[in-house]
Amino acid sequence: MAVSHSTPTISASNRASAVQRGQRRGDNYTTAAISTMPAGDPPLSFRDLDAIAVERLKNLGTKRAAALAELEIRSVLDLLQHYPRRYLDRTRQARIVDLMVDEEVFVVARVERSASRRTRRRQKLVEVVVSDDSGRLKLVFFNQPWLEQSLNVGRTVVVHGKPSRYQGALQMTNPVVDLVGDRTGRIIAVYPQSEKSGLRTWHIADHVANVLDRCEARSIDDPLPDELPTRLKLMNRHAAFCGIHRPETMAESSRARQRLMFDELLRLQLRLVQRKRRMEQNTAGLSHAVGGELVNLFVAGLPFELTDAQQQAISVISEDLAKAHPMHRLLQGDVGAGKTVVALCALLTAVQGGYQGALMAPTEVLAEQHHQTMTKLLGDFSVPDETRLTASRPLRMELLTASCPAAQRRKTAAGLAAGEVDIVVGTHALISDDLQYESLGVVVIDEQHRFGVEQRAVLRDRGPQSLTPDLLVMTATPIPRTAAMTVYGDLDVSVLDELPSGRVRIDTTWARGPLGEALVWEAVRDAAAKGHQAYVVCPLIEESEVIDVRSAMETYERLSGEGGELAGLRVGLLHGRVSAAEKEATMSLFRSNQLDVLVSTTVIEVGVDVANATVMVVIDAGRFGIAQLHQLRGRVGRAQYASNCYLVGEAATPEAEARLQALVDSDDGFHLAEVDLELRGEGTIMGERQKGRNDLRLASLRRDKEWVEKAREVAIEILDDDPDLLKLPALADEIELMLGDREAEFLLKS
Ligand code: ADP
Ligand code: MG
Repeated sequence: MAVSHSTPTISASNRASAVQRGQRRGDNYTTAAISTMPAGDPPLSFRDLDAIAVERLKNLGTKRAAALAELEIRSVLDLLQHYPRRYLDRTRQARIVDLMVDEEVFVVARVERSASRRTRRRQKLVEVVVSDDSGRLKLVFFNQPWLEQSLNVGRTVVVHGKPSRYQGALQMTNPVVDLVGDRTGRIIAVYPQSEKSGLRTWHIADHVANVLDRCEARSIDDPLPDELPTRLKLMNRHAAFCGIHRPETMAESSRARQRLMFDELLRLQLRLVQRKRRMEQNTAGLSHAVGGELVNLFVAGLPFELTDAQQQAISVISEDLAKAHPMHRLLQGDVGAGKTVVALCALLTAVQGGYQGALMAPTEVLAEQHHQTMTKLLGDFSVPDETRLTASRPLRMELLTASCPAAQRRKTAAGLAAGEVDIVVGTHALISDDLQYESLGVVVIDEQHRFGVEQRAVLRDRGPQSLTPDLLVMTATPIPRTAAMTVYGDLDVSVLDELPSGRVRIDTTWARGPLGEALVWEAVRDAAAKGHQAYVVCPLIEESEVIDVRSAMETYERLSGEGGELAGLRVGLLHGRVSAAEKEATMSLFRSNQLDVLVSTTVIEVGVDVANATVMVVIDAGRFGIAQLHQLRGRVGRAQYASNCYLVGEAATPEAEARLQALVDSDDGFHLAEVDLELRGEGTIMGERQKGRNDLRLASLRRDKEWVEKAREVAIEILDDDPDLLKLPALADEIELMLGDREAEFLLKS
């Protein structure tokens, strides 16, 4: 697009004629700074808007531009997407004379006087008197000294709060104050502003208004297929941008938000679905023979019946494995749901057909444990021996971690390269470049949250003849379905939503204060007396900076030392600083019930499976997240024995309080995931790094669940018909702009 610098002559835009899609008003396009354009220029695309630097706008010098840059606003598009934080509906504004004690209101008023002083307790106090045409009101602010600067006399402010009566007069203490300038209009948009650089919400509002006026002539393009907005009852996009920044009614602003939020979600889902499909197309996979004897034998030999959910998952996975394109599936299941068995079926399917299987765990302790379980379950299995026509040989399974002796590692590596090892269990050493597989057919990654997309990508082309092995990712950190659609958008999702029968509910207690804690240790001793075992988990180790955190070592010594709460019991210690061999030795003592109590850091957080353990004690539980606590709790109650979880300590924040209470109230991982999302917001799911960068400015995976699903459906519908978005070039280009490869990579690194 040509951008010229001719003198702007702004025509007051006529908002009532809110530009219909494609409508042009050729005589009215005097929006020069953006472009001098011949009549009939096409509507402005995101890319057009992105190409216009904010410096081109009226009244916008370098200083202002620098201030905007601090808010990451560099182009006109950035400005348009700098959405109001909230709105003030002036029709609901109160007059000072009508204020009543304790009734929450807002008033728009002028600052009359402003002064600050120190109270006797050395607190800084700012006192401000404001007035409207009906009366005066005193505002008192504690500890917000900077307000004195901004609330200078003559300024118009919007004050929200509850009046109280003080010495006979009404006043508001610590009200929320918005400086809005002398905005007129019924609804005032309040923007996120930058105190530091003196950029106020009304400055932003002015620039945005300026942009909207200038866009009026050409209008902002709507990239959606024509019928879609109508079908979904969404506004067209130009109207939405006007409506979110300059709504006439609150209803208009929320409809505008809905449209723009849908666009964000749709772009994301299109990107994810497209990516997933391309990956499926461009990678050739193995078509496994399913329904073989090995799997049946394995299932028949299990000491229990599979749950319906397990059967269902196994059958869906078999279908995936039989297909020629590589499986890419996420298996979600609450702790204890029995994911390992499902994984083994997938691995055995590979082995059955002469391929190799790899099971990757996040820690050595877990890898070791999986190896043991599998040795127990599969120890005497045989596989067909290709070297001799009719014979068979024992199934060979190996453990491969960084701490295996070098000689053993070499042997395993050689066996994998020669195709003599059927199943290998290990840590991410398994996907290191120098490890050769003769015929890697299925890879299972346990406890996904520690592995990112990058690691998944490493697997591509690792199979025989550069075929991509099938991949099953398992996670015990359930996340809500709609969030899964976004975060794991490139995976198919299966859910184990049923626990094996006979499990007893884990009784969870929040133990506060010394008395509460005493009961906890009594419970541990009781369990030990009955021949059961307990875990005691501590949050940090040797963190000299964090003085108030009890380290695992201290706890160990305090509890097991002479006169300690657990003196006389067999107590072991496990933390990240001991050697892997020592770690394994301790674990193995615990597994064989030669330890009553295992004091440990969170190394046991995921996956550890010792059925005889019935008590979980978490010290300083307030420091853990919901998912982590739920994981920890899942280490007990793994058999039919009644089990207890004790969350020890006070909650330092209301949020921590809510977390602990949620754990006490519920043991449903999916429910807890929702609570977590509620408490912590999207950041939990998207990850810190992603938050700043992603295209989701309005959409909330929490509030807008139904729209996430709708966007997913629409994305699939569009791509079914038009896989490369050839019919919707504007939309394709916008996705490229907003979620280009770099951004998408970023987004997917969970
Ligand atoms: P998770 O899903 O947390 O990884 P595991 O696979 O470790 O769960 O299984 C937890 C425990 O439940 C294991 O001891 C396992 O042998 C047992 N288990 C798995 N499936 C069943 C079932 N269908 N019935 C009874 N016990 C089961
Ligand atoms: Mg597990």
